[in-house]
Amino acid sequence: MKNIIIFGAPGSGKGTYSDEIVAKYNMGHISTGDVLRAQIKAGTELGKTAQGYIDNGQLLPDELMIDILADAYDKFPAGKGVIFDGFPRTIPQAEALKKMLAERGHDMGMMIELVVEEDVLMARLLNRAKEQGRADDNEETIKKRFAVYHSQTAPLSEWFAKEGIRNTLAWAELGSKEAMLEAIFNTIEKQA
Ligand code: ATP
Ligand code: MG
Repeated sequence: MKNIIIFGAPGSGKGTYSDEIVAKYNMGHISTGDVLRAQIKAGTELGKTAQGYIDNGQLLPDELMIDILADAYDKFPAGKGVIFDGFPRTIPQAEALKKMLAERGHDMGMMIELVVEEDVLMARLLNRAKEQGRADDNEETIKKRFAVYHSQTAPLSEWFAKEGIRNTLAWAELGSKEAMLEAIFNTIEKQA
């Protein structure tokens, strides 16, 4: 199985669809957000560092994230396809991912971008706040995360297009979770 990078703004559904992809294709899954939240819960040094950034809607430093990602990747058997959910989020992270994989004789596989309008994202995240109580799902922090997404992460979309691996799926055209999921599976099977 090829690697998959699932890409999109906060609340675009990266985690939700990753779980469905993992269940269907038996892939590995690395959610950097989940890794960091587990560290916070366990009260580790990394968790303490992470909390300051996350509560402020900011990204952690690239060097730190790149180490975390490589460690997580190496826990899977070599060659098992992995879904990268929440990584890369900056161009240096993307360059580092490409290099880390190349050093292991692997490649990035395909990138799937979930395009969702900001009013829909805000509504989803506020709803998630009620259901899951994530500390960074409050209106003020969400706005900061959107701003960070626009300035640091969104430019990566073009970077992936230049790599020739970008696949864009738009919520406005697909309109339901089922339709989105079907489009994701079609994209994966076209490239597999
Ligand atoms: P969603 O889970 O709905 O897609 P999200 O993308 O904002 O929302 P996570 O991916 O869970 O949420 O990330 C939560 C926070 O963890 C980010 O706002 C950031 O502070 C930190 N984080 C996660 N991944 C990275 C990364 N690759 N680089 C830097 N910081 C990260
Ligand atoms: Mg997530």
